[in-house]
Amino acid sequence: MDRRHIESLGLGPVLDKVLAAERLSLDEGQALYDCPDPHVPAALAMHVRTRLHGDTARYVINRHVNPTNVCVNRCRFCAYRRDPGQEGAYVLTADDALAKLAAAGPLDEIHIVGGCHPELGLPYYEDLAARVRAAYPKASIKALTAVEIDHLATMAGLDASEVLTRLKAAGVDMLPGGGAEIFASGPRNALCPEKIGGERWLEVMGLAHKAGLRSNATMLFGHLESTRDRLEHMDALRRQQDASGGFVCFIPLPYLPGNNPLGAEASGPSAMDVLRTMAVARLMLDNFAHIKAYWVMLGLKLSQLCLSWGADDLDGTVVEERIGHDAGSDSAQALTTAELEEAIRQSGFTPIRRDGLFREQSDV
Ligand code: SF4
Repeated sequence: MDRRHIESLGLGPVLDKVLAAERLSLDEGQALYDCPDPHVPAALAMHVRTRLHGDTARYVINRHVNPTNVCVNRCRFCAYRRDPGQEGAYVLTADDALAKLAAAGPLDEIHIVGGCHPELGLPYYEDLAARVRAAYPKASIKALTAVEIDHLATMAGLDASEVLTRLKAAGVDMLPGGGAEIFASGPRNALCPEKIGGERWLEVMGLAHKAGLRSNATMLFGHLESTRDRLEHMDALRRQQDASGGFVCFIPLPYLPGNNPLGAEASGPSAMDVLRTMAVARLMLDNFAHIKAYWVMLGLKLSQLCLSWGADDLDGTVVEERIGHDAGSDSAQALTTAELEEAIRQSGFTPIRRDGLFREQSDV
């Protein structure tokens, strides 16, 4: 890093804090977003990423299962949801889900997320989790966003804590990070007015961590939000992490403008915006161990670049992905282990196979 160059851009104090591993303020994050030379946040993020993870980058052998696309919410960015009975609406049985998993071969992580169905209650998900756990005793089961947990609790008239405890007893290890979208109330109300607010999302995650579950956290960006909204979103996440400590990974998700009601009102982030957001996230989220470049929504080539802009994970083999592809993602549906490892090596990093909790996997 060229200190004189960084100081000439007014970021000398930020450099000092990064080198001392001190927390950056929102204004310092804003200065990184506004810096005219994008290589400055990139270099600072690479320093932190290397301090945390050396030259390693992670991937997971996983399979996504989306139990239903029927949803009571109508998020304007969503191309996946259907009304009950609408053409294309579906509900998987537990047998359907297990057949999809079995076809994928050995798995280190099973990712289960879908719509908020008006009638599929907690027993359906407990049964699904228990059957998946019985079939995959060692795999990480990552199931149901904070939005789905809140929906199940409301349907059953239960506290979210009880829903979480019962799902954990059925075999769930962790929650995916979806549903966070953007916490700022202005863009959130414009995007997804029926969805739980940011405070409730954070509260459910805190309850999950208290129940002994871990979770991820996401941020949807490149739509109606400002860079300040993104920074406040990251700040809210790191304060929740200070309080409950159960977040494993942060995943910035680009808005994809295909096939949804919001459509071309927003164009999605540019490649440079994605890269800079990866870097800023790595620098702001000082208490998050991992930043994921989710290749399904970013594309593999941009995800490879993200590994040098703060990300240390490419996610996984995935096998079948509906939510991002319904919104226009033109990435592949699946990558093999060899393809993921090669993509990481091409980027200059050493691949490490992980499970959902980011524990290194070495058995075959
Ligand atoms: S994003 Fe999730 S909660 Fe919103 S409409 Fe789509 S499936 Fe439902």
